Amino acid sequence: MSEKPTILLIYTGGTIGMMKDYQTKALKAFDFNQLLDKIPELQYLNCNITTISFEEPIDSSNMNIDSYIKIAEIISDKYNSFDGFVVLTGSDTMSYISSTISLMFENLQKPVIFTGSQLPIGDLRTDAKENLITSIQIASAKENGEAIVKEVGLYFEYKLFRANRTTKINAERFEAFASMNYSPLAESGVHLHFNKDLLFNPTNNGESLVFRKNLIKDVAILKLFPGITKRVVEAIVNIPDLKGLILETYGSGNAPTETWFVSLLEKIIKKGIHIVNVTQCIGGSVLLGLYETSTDLKNIGIINGKDITTETAVAKMMYLLGENLTKTEFKQYFETSLRGEIS
Ligand code: ASP
Repeated sequence: MSEKPTILLIYTGGTIGMMKDYQTKALKAFDFNQLLDKIPELQYLNCNITTISFEEPIDSSNMNIDSYIKIAEIISDKYNSFDGFVVLTGSDTMSYISSTISLMFENLQKPVIFTGSQLPIGDLRTDAKENLITSIQIASAKENGEAIVKEVGLYFEYKLFRANRTTKINAERFEAFASMNYSPLAESGVHLHFNKDLLFNPTNNGESLVFRKNLIKDVAILKLFPGITKRVVEAIVNIPDLKGLILETYGSGNAPTETWFVSLLEKIIKKGIHIVNVTQCIGGSVLLGLYETSTDLKNIGIINGKDITTETAVAKMMYLLGENLTKTEFKQYFETSLRGEIS
């Protein structure tokens, strides 16, 4: 008889482990041990679950790079002892957290599934139970003795997405996430159906896990809007120690052609600051040079973010900045898919 898969459940905070303080009416984190009391069904799953929790559960809005590293270190330390990992975080910044962690691990051969919920676990109408139970099932799923999912996923409301393709799109619907440029990796209905040809399948010749945690935080996002002034753009591009800028452009990567605007960007690219062009649209791709309004950006050497999400662009910027790459290498790596984050 084969042994049951072993799952490490990591609780960091978020609504899934919260309850209402009836005096203040605010949601407050509660002791993680109570989470298991709230879902007795967990003991009937065909796997052995071990839980580990942040000493102080944190709302995902308070998560910073140190928290990401803390989660990733737990996974890396326990990588050989478990078959799969389920990480519970708040949904607000889950796409940022999980995208970053997807980049930090190269040659991942086991599932790392992020999930959370819109309603606390104790709520009668909660979405937490289904999200948690199915995430654990996905993290335990094997075929011919091998994990089916070998990447970082995000499971919410019946769908498993590639984490680094997701965006939180709704603050109140159970269907809180979307992955506009990549179809779900799995869907849960009466059966749990994996879309196997979409799963990340790196050509791995038995190479072991590489864990990189040197993230550089000196990045900024500049979202364009009609009427944006020179003063605003100047303030952003002159941020001391800025190393990377995510430029959120219109449509397929378009921006004003005004000389002041283009030359401010050109100046910082010459100084060695990396700028990536990402579209403000939640679906579709940057196509540099398709319109006149993106030709200048192409000519000054802006990085083409293609169909990357803003969340993953931030993550990739911080990740690649830690890698001591030349300007040309940086652009090449950014424009190439490392963990399936770009088409
Ligand atoms: N504010 C919570 C958080 O992101 C919301 C949630 O858990 O979904 O931590």
